[in-house]
Amino acid sequence: MSLISASLSRVKPSPTIAISSKAKELAADGHDIIALSAGEPDFDTPENIRDAAIKAIHEGKTRYTAPDGIPELKQAICDKFLRENHLTYTPSQVSVSSGGKQILYNALMATLDAGDEVVIPAPYWVSYPDMVLLAGGTPVIVECPIEAGFKLTADALENAITPKTKWLIFNSPSNPTGAGYSRDELKALTDVLMRHPQVHIMTDDMYEHLSYDGFTFCTPAEVEPGLYDRTLTCNGVSKAYAMTGWRIGYAAGPEPLISAMRKVQSQSTSCPCSVSQWAAVEALNGSQDYIHDSLSIFQKRRDMVVEQLNSCEGITCPTPDGAFYVYPSIAGCLGKTSSGGKIITDDESFATALLEETGVAVVFGAAFGLSPNFRVSYAEADEVLLDACTRIKAFCEKLS
Ligand code: PLP
Repeated sequence: MSLISASLSRVKPSPTIAISSKAKELAADGHDIIALSAGEPDFDTPENIRDAAIKAIHEGKTRYTAPDGIPELKQAICDKFLRENHLTYTPSQVSVSSGGKQILYNALMATLDAGDEVVIPAPYWVSYPDMVLLAGGTPVIVECPIEAGFKLTADALENAITPKTKWLIFNSPSNPTGAGYSRDELKALTDVLMRHPQVHIMTDDMYEHLSYDGFTFCTPAEVEPGLYDRTLTCNGVSKAYAMTGWRIGYAAGPEPLISAMRKVQSQSTSCPCSVSQWAAVEALNGSQDYIHDSLSIFQKRRDMVVEQLNSCEGITCPTPDGAFYVYPSIAGCLGKTSSGGKIITDDESFATALLEETGVAVVFGAAFGLSPNFRVSYAEADEVLLDACTRIKAFCEKLS
């Protein structure tokens, strides 16, 4: 009898974490590595948030809390949803977890039975399909090609839905492409869902605050109030407030679902970190200046990286609406050989050769379900990004 469960054997470890770890190991061995593989802001958590955490520690707010969050944070989340998304939720409709990842995981664990299908547009955030598998469901991947702006169309969604579909996982602006859905594009999707009452929507709004060129973020329950009772609106403080290590994510949705998610959490992690919850209260209620300041920095970096990558032979890089990623195509590099003698057969061999021969770590597109591409995270200092782009350009020039 195998010690490792059958359900776990269907799951692969997070490739983004694996590549970032490999880059760290190579750097520790003395190699000159630039890692553009991790999805986290390179800024410190704003001071007012750090101070709130220190204050919480001094005040002894260091014990277990209610399983899915302290009342102060739940209220701050309700206020945020009303203020920024025009959505009315009460604290009993809110769940707080150890990161956005755990919110999504709890929701899938709480709802999926064997045979239940979850529609996932590709390219997708690496964890969606594997979390569905861990929860015993079946991921249904819908490819959204570069020509469609990496976005799900109403027809593609309609074709993917079956009587067994329980969820659509929706992410805008997207990791890994940065593609954002306009209100009209989103309405076309919610119109489809209105015709299929068995389907719920899990919207991952983690990059809500990171959008550029006047792109206006909108979320499904706001666009189609008829879906309010079928929507779990997920968000978190990790990306918006440079708080990836604090591990706080949250969601709001129908009470029976929130209560089922509470049960999962109470029997797994008990509650999110008490100190981080107080920090998150300050993030949501306090000054929002950081968001504004970081956005203009990210936008400049995006513009620079898009321009640089488009000047590389064989690479085409669309301009994303949001997040801090670009997802260029390497179609023009396929079949060529690198100066180190590696044949570029796919995006994985491209990324491997790039790391070995130039020290630049990126994540290959197959990890996100759409090839031949790679993901660059531009949440890095300008000079680091420029150095990385120069190395990528030299790598492409030497392909023969
Ligand atoms: N959703 C998306 C689309 C992400 O990119 C990430 C993190 O990379 C998460 C969720 C998880 O966020 P957290 O760090 O809060 O768990």
